[in-house]
Amino acid sequence: MSDLQRVIDASKRVVCFTGAGFSTASGIPDFRSADGLYAGEWEGLSPEMILSRSFFYLHPERFFDFYRRNMLFPDAEPNAAHRFLAALERADRLRGVVTQNIDGLHKRAGNRRVYEIHGSVWENYCMDCNAFYGPERILNSEGIPRCDRCGGVVKPWVVLYGEAPDKYSCMGACREISGCDTLIVAGTSLSVEPAASMLDYFHGRQLVVVNAEPTSVDKRAALVVRGDVAEVFGELRV
Ligand code: NAD
Ligand code: ZN
Repeated sequence: MSDLQRVIDASKRVVCFTGAGFSTASGIPDFRSADGLYAGEWEGLSPEMILSRSFFYLHPERFFDFYRRNMLFPDAEPNAAHRFLAALERADRLRGVVTQNIDGLHKRAGNRRVYEIHGSVWENYCMDCNAFYGPERILNSEGIPRCDRCGGVVKPWVVLYGEAPDKYSCMGACREISGCDTLIVAGTSLSVEPAASMLDYFHGRQLVVVNAEPTSVDKRAALVVRGDVAEVFGELRV
């Protein structure tokens, strides 16, 4: 822990790359932990299949049923790890957060430079007229959510399996990763591409991993902290 504090104290341009494990302490299940969504029974389908582009188009009612029950947590609050990153940005020591998360908690904690490469459940758009809707449109509807204006399907701005990640978020994310001196990778299994390969843009001084389980970049890291992100970040000071 004191090693991590020393790394952060000596860094001027930190970037944090986060995944679902960053939000489990906020009560949002991840995919691959023992109690994550992959452990559930979904009528023989994997969450990856249900959250895919083809399933969305072929079975929109089943997609929205799963999405409503498992991906929307409007009452979840940022945890100590989110709050630490917000404080680090306020102190002008954090260049940005690159997140695979769709829960919007980094922004809610106060971070401004957040690259949501897989989108956000807080933004939803009519597929026909592009009208914007908040998550309540999905939560408070039954079956397929529809647009008030034109009756089109309201689709979450969430990158489904089989869809390309958001181009502009990815461009910003790669720019920040390639320009930082310290990259902290936290709460991710690094099993989703092309997100995981973005780490190849890093050529700064220190790669740090904070995760409950081993990851594929541990061997490249200057420091690996095995533990709960909320506890680990919660003990750090800016
Ligand atoms: P993942 O489920 O594949 O991996 C999570 C990793 O975090 C695991 O290695 C696990 O050991 C670790 N972890 C879990 N809780 C932790 C904690 N409290 N402290 C430290 N480590 C912890 O998640 P992923 O790599 O982000 O990939 C899953 C994909 O699913 C992403 O694309 C993401 O968009 C999506 N997803 C997002 C959310 C969210 O927005 N909160 C939730 C579930 C899935
Ligand atoms: Zn519309």
